[in-house]
Amino acid sequence: MRSKYGTTLLTIALLFLVIALVVGKVYDIGLHRPPLKYANIPDVTKEYLRSLDRNNRDQGITVSDVGPFDWDNNTDLGQDKHTLNPLDKDQGQVRSGWQQVENANFIVYYEFDEDALWQGHALDVLRVAQETIEPLKELFGVYFYPSTVNGRRLALYLPSTSGKYKETTCQLLEQPNYDITNVAGVTIIQVGPLGCLTRGIVLSPDVFEVPSDHINGFVKVLQHEMNHYVFFTALNYNNDVHHYLWISEGIAEYFCRRHNGHQVRASDSINFISTNCDLNGEFTMEASYWAGESFFNFMEEYKGKNTVKRFLQNAFQCSTDSVFINMGMPAPQLHQEWIEALELPAVDSLELENSLGNSFS
Ligand SMILES: [Zn+2]
Repeated sequence: MRSKYGTTLLTIALLFLVIALVVGKVYDIGLHRPPLKYANIPDVTKEYLRSLDRNNRDQGITVSDVGPFDWDNNTDLGQDKHTLNPLDKDQGQVRSGWQQVENANFIVYYEFDEDALWQGHALDVLRVAQETIEPLKELFGVYFYPSTVNGRRLALYLPSTSGKYKETTCQLLEQPNYDITNVAGVTIIQVGPLGCLTRGIVLSPDVFEVPSDHINGFVKVLQHEMNHYVFFTALNYNNDVHHYLWISEGIAEYFCRRHNGHQVRASDSINFISTNCDLNGEFTMEASYWAGESFFNFMEEYKGKNTVKRFLQNAFQCSTDSVFINMGMPAPQLHQEWIEALELPAVDSLELENSLGNSFS
């Protein structure tokens, strides 16, 4: 009788221990998992993100009903030391593989080469990425340091060949045949209930074949892609944040000053904008870039930089159409003002200086 009582007690104690261990484990997992950020992403927002992935090649966006989980940089492609250690001699050859340079905000992955050419590119990219933080903060009013994205540092990949560029992009996107023909850089993003995770930015090796400040040089391309990082991380996915492609591409082109802030003034371009660039709708894919940039240049020049900033603050919370309404700027009227601004003759700073000089002579 006494021993039966003892066995029961022992069983209860063991059961209690098992339950405590399980609860502890669950608690531990919960402790290290990011809090739910976007519990109910509206269908219209999911459809928007999927349409970006279908229609555009420099933003690779996937939407998930769970996660994303791999916030830690340990799962970056460049962290696969097992297969990519350059010191592993394979039949006398040094194996190529990802190397890295890093700081508190970024990890730049580059491929090993004996002349250290790519290490030089990686250091340049790291410097420019760091210098781009402040201007992004100035434009968007926010930058996402690692502490604000579950400790994740922004991963930048510099594949050295076009084959490796495609391979890296497809691996990060987990899509075997992603088309990156004529695409200078790609930003790869995952959105889910736990937040917006940027898997990485991949730059085409072509961007190092031209001077760094060239229209397709690495500086502008990197700035364009980093603009996507901040824009998409800032969107509030609990809301309907459906935007036209020209918003995200236009603001990225405007930010990197692809055309040095110059307006398009060729009559063909103005006619095109007049008939094809309704602000309450999509532009063609190509026009989303150049005409989108032109629109934000117009907005800065005629409405002021603060209007551009207010526009973006609004855009983080609601759709493009709602932004125009909230700001009291009817899209058709704004479209008309934009065209009228383009039709005005260009006044460059030299002409302005001369005319001011003349008025005093
Ligand atoms: Zn883009």
